[in-house]
Amino acid sequence: MISAPVGSGKSWMCKIISDYLGDSYVLTPRIALQRQYADTFKDARKLIGRKWLPCSWKDSELNAYVTPIIEQGKFFKIEERASCSGAICTKKPAAKRKKVLEECAKYGPCPYQTLIDTASLAPMIVANYHSFVAQTKFRPEQFGHRKLLCIDEGHTLAGALRGMLTVGFTICRMVAPKEVEHLKTLQHWVHWLGRSEQLATFDTEEARDAYNARIEQFEQTGEGVYGSPVIAITNHDPEKEQFKVSFVPYNVGGAAQKLVYQFADVVIALSGTWHGKQISCQEIGLDPSLTHYIEVPSDFPAENRPVYCHQGIDLSHKNWETNLPALCNKIQTIMQKHKGVRGLVHASSYNKAWQIAKELKSRRVIVHTAEDFQDKFQEFLDTPDAVLISPSCYEGISLDDDKCRFNILTTLPYPSAAEGYFQRLLANGGWNLYNTICMRQIGQALGRGVRHNQDYCENHLIDERFMPFLKKMVKVLPGWFKEALKVYEGE
Ligand code: SF4
Repeated sequence: MISAPVGSGKSWMCKIISDYLGDSYVLTPRIALQRQYADTFKDARKLIGRKWLPCSWKDSELNAYVTPIIEQGKFFKIEERASCSGAICTKKPAAKRKKVLEECAKYGPCPYQTLIDTASLAPMIVANYHSFVAQTKFRPEQFGHRKLLCIDEGHTLAGALRGMLTVGFTICRMVAPKEVEHLKTLQHWVHWLGRSEQLATFDTEEARDAYNARIEQFEQTGEGVYGSPVIAITNHDPEKEQFKVSFVPYNVGGAAQKLVYQFADVVIALSGTWHGKQISCQEIGLDPSLTHYIEVPSDFPAENRPVYCHQGIDLSHKNWETNLPALCNKIQTIMQKHKGVRGLVHASSYNKAWQIAKELKSRRVIVHTAEDFQDKFQEFLDTPDAVLISPSCYEGISLDDDKCRFNILTTLPYPSAAEGYFQRLLANGGWNLYNTICMRQIGQALGRGVRHNQDYCENHLIDERFMPFLKKMVKVLPGWFKEALKVYEGE
């Protein structure tokens, strides 16, 4: 486990160790990062998801056309229903899938398998978490063993696994709450979902097969991952006469070995924001006694990235409305200080972002919705003194140089305690992990504006709860973070 801040050359660490050991998988959470690896290292080969490949089921002509193109490392953009991810073989329970695969093989090799076979010749295979995990879950036998497996931005692995292993079922009939309220364990649910009154609601054999295949996957993944009782989120829709239930995994660490780690001898999980070995190992299913934790310092001067902790404004949920004007006064003061340059303000929700914008009444301010983010973000980059207020810029954007000269975190970014997983985590006393996840969000947000060692950006933590929170987390704060912390002395 390597804790390495922005700019420490994480991709080169993976490359050098991969060259030394012989071969590797590199997993990234984002396609842009995957592309970056493939562009930087000429011997790296991208492994992409099934949705990028055409399914050639019973079509030997298509198969003959696409096979050589895939072997050259080129891909297609295809509609879901015509791609390998929407293919018939993915919608069959194991007993029927074998027959489908045998039939399909008569028309040529599966395009997705061709991609895997071709990529397996490269010393470094770069995949994104989603496509790697989706495929290892579906057919683990097709992935060969390698010497090294690097997980870039590893702090996002648990959340990504949770998303990928969340499984949903829709039953096309009204289900009275009392029919399901006694169902607690995975086996209770598997039995209920597989009952004839549920199966009878599907019109076609294909839809029933796809439903049964999902039940099979759910049961195979097991109680070790979904916990007991399971976290079941139910929804009764009287208008559509539908019942929906989804199951959120509780212990994704239990699944990581089977889906990820088993494919290599050595696993390296890299992140700038691990914040502690024990808790992070536990979260992603690594054995702490077999794990080395290495902390890499930052070579970015601390004076170029000060983190000012403000005091006197409690922005907890219950005091938000009362203290919103005081928060906006602070933001206004910071904006005044940074005239003519761009800044970023992190809000904890879209609603709060709009409230701040309304109160600030400044032409510099840009807010966005989930739908128009790309357009508004571009407007921000095109406007030299714009201030973007956003609930979704904690991670994944790079605002180097004059793209961002001040960066404000309004409230402590705790994940929503009302969400099924976090509700269960807190009910089970998982405050350490809950705090660590909050700390990671802070660390990630602070990394948006300083991207290289000549860059500079001033950071402000406004909520008065930041200071006691950071004191509580002091043992796991990396040195590069502590050396930049200051108490704000201004207004
Ligand atoms: S194996 Fe599946 S995905 Fe591949 S060509 Fe056949 S049906 Fe399509």
